[in-house]
Order: sequence, then structure tokens, then C-alpha cells
Amino acid sequence: MAYATTNPFTNEQIKVFPNSTDAEINTALDAAHNAFLSWRTTSFAERAKVMQNAADILRANIDDYSKLLTLEMGKIFAESKAETELSAAIFEYYAKNAEKLLVPQDLPVASKDEGRAKVIHQPLGVLLAVEPWNFPFYQVARIIAPQLSAGNTVVLKHASNVPQCAAAMDELMIKAGLPKGAFQNLYPTHDQVSRILADHRVRGLALTGSEGAGARLASEAGQALKKCTMELGGADAFIVLEDADLEKTVNWAVFGRHWNAGQVCVSSKRLIVVDGVYDEFVKRYREGVSKLKMGDPMDPATTLAPLSSQKAADDLKKQVEGAVAAGAKAEEIPLEMPNQGAFFRPVILTNLKDDNPAMREEFFGPVTLLFRVKDEAEAIRVANDSPYGLGGSVFTKDEARGERVAEQIETGMVYINHPTMVKADLPFGGVLRSGFGRELIDLGIKEFVNHKLIDVVDIDAPF
Ligand code: NAP
Repeated sequence: MAYATTNPFTNEQIKVFPNSTDAEINTALDAAHNAFLSWRTTSFAERAKVMQNAADILRANIDDYSKLLTLEMGKIFAESKAETELSAAIFEYYAKNAEKLLVPQDLPVASKDEGRAKVIHQPLGVLLAVEPWNFPFYQVARIIAPQLSAGNTVVLKHASNVPQCAAAMDELMIKAGLPKGAFQNLYPTHDQVSRILADHRVRGLALTGSEGAGARLASEAGQALKKCTMELGGADAFIVLEDADLEKTVNWAVFGRHWNAGQVCVSSKRLIVVDGVYDEFVKRYREGVSKLKMGDPMDPATTLAPLSSQKAADDLKKQVEGAVAAGAKAEEIPLEMPNQGAFFRPVILTNLKDDNPAMREEFFGPVTLLFRVKDEAEAIRVANDSPYGLGGSVFTKDEARGERVAEQIETGMVYINHPTMVKADLPFGGVLRSGFGRELIDLGIKEFVNHKLIDVVDIDAPF
């Protein structure tokens, strides 16, 4: 596994980066630990300045940062700009709120004899962040903005296909004024990642990625008895009820399944449509997908980007073939495709029976799993028939009904009349095989702190 920049639009390898040596990793962990010893007592105001600087630098140089995202993982330039702005918003959110979110909490005790009790929130130490390529800045911001604000320090192992984005985040934090060692990007092998996680200087793991990587590294964190959070894959349901605004719902479905070339953990991967509107919905959905335009992700006319690599496109093709071999019907939407790059024509899969492996898999690209259901109850049953529990959405004009349905869907996030609202001030995370823990807002910043009880007791209080 080599760290390399390969442009998914041309499949041309641009630059290879050598792996970190064991000695470099050891030095980095020492630096991270030493930085922690002073960063943990640095005031919230000082930390906030660094976070705000990071936000300001990202915004001031948005085109340069965004070009790097498009170069390394192929997303449309407008999406890259939206991601850079979202990352800035996350830094700004914690600049403004970290201190309030971690304010010590006085406990309302039942009797004076229990003492004057409070819970304070202290940072744990060096954290290891393992991050995926699909949002190379946003995923890193989601972990470092809250954790650095809390007083932890972080070493990053980013995905091997986005080494320049990883280095750009490292440089960003130095420019923002973060002390040396408090955030460092490394290029470790998988074995070295295991050793970093086991190292006594490292106190926790935040991983965003696939179920497989999550299961492996969560078990290693368990062996080492270290706290971890797991932000893993999903197969989000997009439920269309008979009273939905069909035109707008179709637009959101096309967008929900195809933004970021369908490579989003919370993409609308399973469209579940009630019988009464199914035929009309599918007709319009097919028309909507047919209007997508593949092309250069830097061209503003492009609406469907290449996948992140040729391997990703080849693997997805095999996955579709597997679904078809197990009885699914595949309809490829005949979009014009550039004769270069890691492009993948959208596919709609129907006739998915319970024993089809596709029912238990995540399709990371523009492949729609489509289900016709008789009514709301069956829609909920199909939505919950998944090993994943990340997000989901419900489309209905009746908001109260939407909320009732949302309460019955077993995931970490459900949106009514929107495919997914990804913002700096809304929490993110899932249940089941989509992982555990939450990122963002107070939930995220409290994942890697010691919720320490301090109780001042009268020496004469009874036992
Ligand atoms: P991935 O293959 O699991 O990789 C994620 C990260 O884990 C990469 O940095 C990867 O490094 C590393 N990794 C994988 N196996 C490892 C091992 N055995 N030891 C050490 N490190 C290991 O996932 P991906 O393909 O990059 O990302 C897509 C997945 O992420 C999808 O399943 C998506 O749904 C999920 N995701 C979830 C969320 C969320 O918040 N829930 C958000 C975004 C993405 P290498 O590149 O070096 O292998």
C-alpha cells in the first residue's frame, strides 16, 4: 500500500509518497505527547484562536484547497468548495463553542452529606485518527477541531490515495498557530497503524471508514483497552410516502444518490417507494438520472464525477454483477461517458430478494437499490432490514407523520424531506454495523475527555 496521488479523471499517477519509518513514527509520538503536556493547559481562548485561524485560512484559500480535493479524489470542484467551507465552519464552530461545551457541571446531589460535587472534562492525550478519502478535509476537521479544542493532540493516518490533502491539513494547522507536534500527519503502513494504536502514548482511536477496517481496528483498540469511536458505512433508506411532493422528492433522490459520485456514507442508497406513487416516481427518477453529465470534475457543467480510483470503479462493477448473479435486475442509465478516467454509469437495481448479498452490502458509487412497498409500515420494515444504521430520510408533506416514521427507523440520523443535512452544528454517527460514538457538537467533543468527578466532602460527613 503506497501513498500516492492519482488523478481519477485521467488515471494518471502524479506523485508517490514514501511510508513513514518506524523512527519517524516514534519521534512523532514523542512530539505529540510532549505537545499534549502543554496544550492541555493552554486556555480555551488560545485554542479558539488557532481554530478560528484555521477556518479563516481555509476560506481565504478556498480555491487552492478545493483543487487539491478534486485532483486527488475526483469530486466536482463545486463539491470541493462546499467541503472546504464546511470544514472551515467546523473549526469556527469549536472556536466559538468549545469552552461552553466543556464547562464543568455542578451535580444536584440528594443530600449535603454527599458533598459539593462536579464533573470536569479533561483531555485524554494523544489520539490516533484514521480517516477515509471521500471527504479528505471534512473528515479530518470533524475530529481535529473538537479534539484539539478539548486539549487532546492528534496523529493522522489518512487514506493512501489522498496524501497531499493529508499534508495540506498538517500545514494548515501549523499556519494557524498550533504548537509543533499537536497535530501531525504520518504515512504509516497498516502494521504501523496497529503499533501506533498499541503504543502507550496513544490514548484513543477515532476511525471513519469501512466496516472491515472498523472491525479490525476496534478489536485492536479493545485489546489495548483504549476508547474508540467508529464512523462506518451505511445503506441509507430514502422513503417516499404517497403524500410526498413528487417533483421535489425526485430531485432530492437524484442528488442524494449521486453527489460525490455516490461515494458518501450517507448517500441515499436504498430508495423505498410506496406502491401508489412508485411508477411515476421511478419514471421521473430515471429521467433525472439520465440528465446527469459525466466529465471533467473541474468543468462547471459536470454533475457526475468519476469514482475515486479505477479500482473503486472495477470493484463496484463486480459488486453489481454479484447482485445480478443472485437474481437482481440491473438497469444501466446510458449516460455518455468520457473515454478516460474512473467513471461509472449509474445503475438501478430491482428485484432484490432477501437472499441477495446486495441486501447486506454498501454500494459505494452511483448504484441505486430500488424497492416497491405496499405502505408506510412495509417501508419501515424494509428500511430496517439492513445491517447498517447510519442515516435515512422520509419524504411526506405531513411533517408529524414524517417524525413518527423517523422514530421507527433504527439509525443515528433521519431527515424529513431532505436526503442528508450535513452541517457543523448537527451531530453525525450511527448504530449497528455503522459504528458507535458521535462526532460534532457537544457529543463529539465529549468522546475523548475524562469526565472526572471532583467531590468536596465535609470531613465529618457520614459514610
Ligand atoms: P477504508 O478502506 O476502510 O479506509 C478508511 C481508512 O482506514 C483509510 O485511511 C485506510 O487506509 C484505513 N485502513 C483500512 N484498513 C486498515 C487496516 N487494516 N489497518 C489500518 N488502517 C486501515 O474505507 P474507505 O474506502 O477509505 O472509505 C469508504 C468507507 O468509509 C465507506 O464504507 C463509507 O461509508 C465510510 N465512511 C463513513 C463515514 C461516517 O461518518 N460514518 C464517513 C465517510 C465514510 P488505506 O487507504 O491505507 O487502506
